[in-house]
Amino acid sequence: MLIDTHAHLHHTRFADDLDATLARATERGVTAVIMPGSTLEDSRAAIALAERYADTPCALYVAVGIHPTEADSLTPATLAELRELAAHPRVVAIGEIGPAQIRHSSALPSKRSWRSPPSYRCRSSSTTGMPTPTSSPS
Ligand SMILES: [Zn+2]
Repeated sequence: MLIDTHAHLHHTRFADDLDATLARATERGVTAVIMPGSTLEDSRAAIALAERYADTPCALYVAVGIHPTEADSLTPATLAELRELAAHPRVVAIGEIGPAQIRHSSALPSKRSWRSPPSYRCRSSSTTGMPTPTSSPS
C-alpha cells in the first residue's frame, strides 16, 4: 500500500485531469492521497473533493491546516473552525505545519491537543526538532 501524504489535488490546476491523475496513481500502487489544506477555504475544498472520491481505488483524504504563510489569518474563530473541520471523517491529519523557514511560521500554535495527527511540512528547513525514525517498519 502506498499513500501520497502531500498532494494538492483539490487545486484547480488538477481539475481537468484529476481522474487521469488518479488512474495513473492507482496503476503505480497508490491507494490513497492526503490533500493538505492551506487555508480554511482550501481545507473545505479538499474535504469536498475527498467526499466525492471516498470509494475509489485511490481514495482521497485531507490534512486540514493553515500554511505558515497564512499564519496572519489565525484567530480564535479560525482555529475553532479548523478544529471542526478536523473532526470530518475524511480528515486524517493536521497539515501544512512544521518548522518551515518562512516568516510567521513560529506564530503557529501547537496542535498537540487535536484529535488528528500532525503532518509536518519541512521544505527548505533543517531537520532540527523533527523526530527521526530509529528503525524501519517490518
Ligand atoms: Zn503543500
